[in-house]
Amino acid sequence: MLINIFDPWKSKLCTCPKKYSFNPYTGCGHRCIYCYITSYIRNAFNPRVKKELIKRVRKEVKKIDRRLYISMSNSSDPYTTIDKEYKLTRACLKIFKENDVRVLIVTKSDLFLRDLDIIGDMKASISVTITTLDEEIAEKLEPNAPEPSRRLKALEKAVSRGIRVSCRIDPIIPFLNEDVEELVKELSCIGVEHVVSSTFKPRHDSWRRFKEKFPKIADRLEKFYFINGERVQNSYYLSREFRYRLMRKIRDLCKKYGMTFSTCREGFLKEAKSCDGSHLIL
Ligand code: SF4
Repeated sequence: MLINIFDPWKSKLCTCPKKYSFNPYTGCGHRCIYCYITSYIRNAFNPRVKKELIKRVRKEVKKIDRRLYISMSNSSDPYTTIDKEYKLTRACLKIFKENDVRVLIVTKSDLFLRDLDIIGDMKASISVTITTLDEEIAEKLEPNAPEPSRRLKALEKAVSRGIRVSCRIDPIIPFLNEDVEELVKELSCIGVEHVVSSTFKPRHDSWRRFKEKFPKIADRLEKFYFINGERVQNSYYLSREFRYRLMRKIRDLCKKYGMTFSTCREGFLKEAKSCDGSHLIL
């Protein structure tokens, strides 16, 4: 099956509503250094098309529980690099629209602008990830994703089309991108309603990539993750106190600038109607 009930590895820290997860592509070409899919998808940074995707989606969509929405996507970006050419996300959205299925689009690209004609006419919300306004840092963190300024402009255009949007400021990496006041202010100005945030939870491979790109910060962080932190399943977490401090700062900023806030997989500060922004689906 391609459309499955979302299963965050049975994590007790996940507060997502019951929903479907659907990835039009296997793997993702944005190559974010903090990405966790490389720990369970072979050749994960080489995105590829799923066999008979459209035929299977047409069939599966008829069987889903209409009370639930589809989160698109959790293991790859629906607007990953190759979607510009293949346009499969557009084709899937058309099917969901025809079948009146509610969709939460989660992306790090501005490519959804191409599909606003469909998105604006269906029950959908868009959640765009922006981790920093610093283009140099973003280039190192998310080498193949569009610049943050383009993502902001795309969010603004979506809002002007009447689409309700949220932003994932995720992950927050201490000493690197924890100061997000300018970003939060900007989001609020363009009409973003909700923010989801989460701290960096490295696995072995993502930590290796992070260390290569940011060796000095990795040195400073090592003790916070591997001595004072905790291990949750296959990920390394900062201590609860440290994570709470980082997240509370962003929660307070969101309050100041009039947006709702929730953490993702932290176990605290879930304050909005949904953590993932799905309450914004019209
Ligand atoms: S956009 Fe998401 S799935 Fe794609 S590489 Fe980045 S973190 Fe991984």
